[in-house]
Amino acid sequence: MAEPILAWWARRQFSKGADVPYPVGAYREAWASYPVLIRQYHPDLNAGIVLSQIPPAADVLLLWQCDAGHTFVATPAEQRARPARGRRRSDWCPDCSALAKPAAVRSGALPRAERVTSTVALCSRTPDLPAGASFASECAPRPASAAEAALRAALFERLSLTTGCNPVRIARPFFDHLEVWPDILLPELRIAVEYDSTGRHGLEHVGNREEADRRKDRALRAARWEVVRVRTGRLEKLGPYDVQASGVSRRTVDRLIDAFRDVRGPLLLDAYLRA
Ligand SMILES: [Zn+2]
Repeated sequence: MAEPILAWWARRQFSKGADVPYPVGAYREAWASYPVLIRQYHPDLNAGIVLSQIPPAADVLLLWQCDAGHTFVATPAEQRARPARGRRRSDWCPDCSALAKPAAVRSGALPRAERVTSTVALCSRTPDLPAGASFASECAPRPASAAEAALRAALFERLSLTTGCNPVRIARPFFDHLEVWPDILLPELRIAVEYDSTGRHGLEHVGNREEADRRKDRALRAARWEVVRVRTGRLEKLGPYDVQASGVSRRTVDRLIDAFRDVRGPLLLDAYLRA
């Protein structure tokens, strides 16, 4: 059961035999991709203990304060799970969420993976192809960001590969489709590239959304594709070939191409490099 912070801290002091069971900074990286939670957390509301001393899995009741001034109690896991709920800044605070008007239902505004989560019906527009086949989809969303479009252009400038494919057929449903829509597909290399940022309100690719990303990666790997993610906004790597970057630059593209070389070997990769 979750404990008040002083009780939790005392128990950790005892079990670790140390006055300071978790030094300042111990969990800095684990919180780095949650800038909103860093802003909501104040040591003076929590017995002087700083956020980087709190393991994300700790079963402890913390006091948080949102940008609008509401204070509320929640465990680290509860706060980190908030990004699964919606796409508004108010989703980070229970009081703000209650005050916000219900969001207008516009399917185009919903994330690709969550367009329809309540229905069990599978979309029938996916062509009947073997798992792993890529094709031009009727359902795939438009590119989400300018950075993603810039990355796509930079990659196809360097690599001579088939453009215009977006989904990969998979064997088992991912949400309501038998296809997944990575940001960029490199069909000849069977590599999917994702450009991940935490988005305007810090809600993307964190919390339960990270779980959906992992499921998507598993579906792709099961179809014998590899996934390489560009992780920005201090998001940690999910897969073995991921590249952490602050944005799309010449250097980011070079590092990606090195990652592709690691995935498929230099012989195959260099065959597609433009001179
Ligand atoms: Zn609030």
